[in-house]
Amino acid sequence: MSEPSVFTRIRTGDIPGEIISETENVFAIRDIAPQAPVHLLVIPKTERYRNVGELAAADPGLLGEMIAMAGSLAAEHADGDYRLVFNTGANAGQTVFHVHAHVLAGGLEEKELRA
Ligand code: AMP
Repeated sequence: MSEPSVFTRIRTGDIPGEIISETENVFAIRDIAPQAPVHLLVIPKTERYRNVGELAAADPGLLGEMIAMAGSLAAEHADGDYRLVFNTGANAGQTVFHVHAHVLAGGLEEKELRA
């Protein structure tokens, strides 16, 4: 068994962090190093999928639940518009190999919109 991911450790209370939204299968936290005025992470409770490709192939319904939560959070925390980013692989900047969506919103700068 590998160690629980940092996200699971937040969800289970092992390390500090606020769960800002939660359903049966999905939860959300604030990114500790925000890259936009609103920068949230939407995460499935299962650690089974390392990246969005694995998740989409195996459980598209769960991916849909993540996207639904991203939209709700963008409406609640910003004007409803948002970017959804799934870094996939270390060479693309992925550091946590428990699939998660970055929800970026709230008046993005031009440079953030081009990224
Ligand atoms: P990625 O680089 O796509 O794997 O994204 C991992 C994200 O997790 C980064 O944006 C980090 O800032 C964020 N992160 C790492 N540790 C924590 C933490 N303890 N609480 C909230 N966000 C975190």
